[in-house]
Amino acid sequence: MSYPQFDNSYIHLPDRFFARVDPTPVATPRLIRLNSGLAEELRLDAGWLASPVGIDMLSGNRLPDNAEPIAAAYAGHQFGQFVPQLGDGRAILLGEVIDRDGARRDIQLKGSGPTPFSRRGDGRAALGPVLREYVVSEAMAALGIPTTRALAAVTTGDTVARETLLPGAVLTRVASSHIRVGTFQFFAARGDVEGVRILADYVIARHYPNAAESPEPYRALLDAVIAAQADLVAQWLLVGFIHGVMNTDNMSVAGETIDYGPCAFMDTYDLGTVFSAIDQNGRYAYGNQPSIAQWNLTRLAEALLPVLAEDQDSAVARAQEALDVFATRFKTKFHAGMRRKIGLVTEQDGDVTLVQDLLKIMAENGADYTLTFRRLSDAASGAKGDKAVRSLFGDPTSFDGWASNWRQRLGQEQQDDDTRRAAMNAVNPAYIPRNHQIEAMISAAVEQDDFGPFGELMEVLSRPYEDQPSFARYAEPPQPHERVLQTFCGT
Ligand code: AMP
Ligand code: MG
Repeated sequence: MSYPQFDNSYIHLPDRFFARVDPTPVATPRLIRLNSGLAEELRLDAGWLASPVGIDMLSGNRLPDNAEPIAAAYAGHQFGQFVPQLGDGRAILLGEVIDRDGARRDIQLKGSGPTPFSRRGDGRAALGPVLREYVVSEAMAALGIPTTRALAAVTTGDTVARETLLPGAVLTRVASSHIRVGTFQFFAARGDVEGVRILADYVIARHYPNAAESPEPYRALLDAVIAAQADLVAQWLLVGFIHGVMNTDNMSVAGETIDYGPCAFMDTYDLGTVFSAIDQNGRYAYGNQPSIAQWNLTRLAEALLPVLAEDQDSAVARAQEALDVFATRFKTKFHAGMRRKIGLVTEQDGDVTLVQDLLKIMAENGADYTLTFRRLSDAASGAKGDKAVRSLFGDPTSFDGWASNWRQRLGQEQQDDDTRRAAMNAVNPAYIPRNHQIEAMISAAVEQDDFGPFGELMEVLSRPYEDQPSFARYAEPPQPHERVLQTFCGT
């Protein structure tokens, strides 16, 4: 059994990029779950991680001798307001490892005690939010969406004071890196052009090595981040995901979904859906996510201006060109995904309208987003299979007119019914982490120390595109009394 072979690189950047800090020990660490599949991917020894010394590391009680723990500096726009210094206030990077595909991955403890960036916070995490992040990030990975991962969760045996006293926990998070749009802003806001350049070179080397070959590497970097984010947000929309706090410090330059706080999946389709209790004005509503992503990327472009060109005017022109691509790239990706969701392989002029018409009747009829698409595959071959999908619409007849246009369009495709059904089911999940199930899972764990529902949710969500008859109830939308109206970051 062996401890992790860290291969750290961020720590070799200048001192102002981070602070060296050790985790603060906890009372009585207990392993809730270890993601052994991910451990294998990371070439970590799952047996060691689950052993007492492994749990000592996962709780921050004792690190292997080769660890060089740090908290990273970053800034960010929070709900549109710039905060020049945020940083890892309750997270500590244990180190980096090279995974079995040769990719560098960060291993970070979240909730491991105060750091120089904690401001007034306690550096801790409560069990509920740790479980939410574990489940939702792993569900996103199983859905095929770029995301940070959960390697492990431990309870600490300590309580954390929020509105009430809650059990504490530590999440071990894995990311391609934890560099955010706000990391660039940290240096830009200080007029530290050298810092911006060093960070940009590091991100190019780590995430976008092709950009180094470009005649304008920093412009190529900006293009690459914009493309990655356009694709990511399109994928969020396609599965009904709402991040909840798309502040610039919560946007990864590697294009992974990061910082699961008051995130949620939409039940009934509505562009204005907001769950986060702190999002009073709906800034981060489901349908606003593309424009917010573009806003955040504009902040990234601003931070990069001094390295984009010698003079300000050409730098602004380059930034603008790069940003102009976002909307088209997002739409292309979104509509390609939507065509697949409704079973189309070829592309025709009326397809975008066909999709928009469906979304419109779904909104008007309070149709469940996930189930509508999942059940559509049964209706593809004829009206005899459309009972289940029709019943999701407040007025089922509203579906019929659309369905007849849709079937007409499907008639121009070459695919046979079975192939189409399989293709649709491979992109339309049956299971998503629904809010009411997450809340029930958290209550069981926090109030009754019962992790059964957590394990069951993890199991069902690991195969979201497969029908799992024994877990059929997890596909169901909430009953009116189960409906969750608000989610909280719980930080
Ligand atoms: P978040 O809302 O989780 O993205 O966090 C925003 C900022 O607040 C980051 O700099 C976090 O490190 C910091 N933060 C959040 N919760 C805590 C906490 N309990 N203790 C210290 N810092 C925190
Ligand atoms: Mg954050």
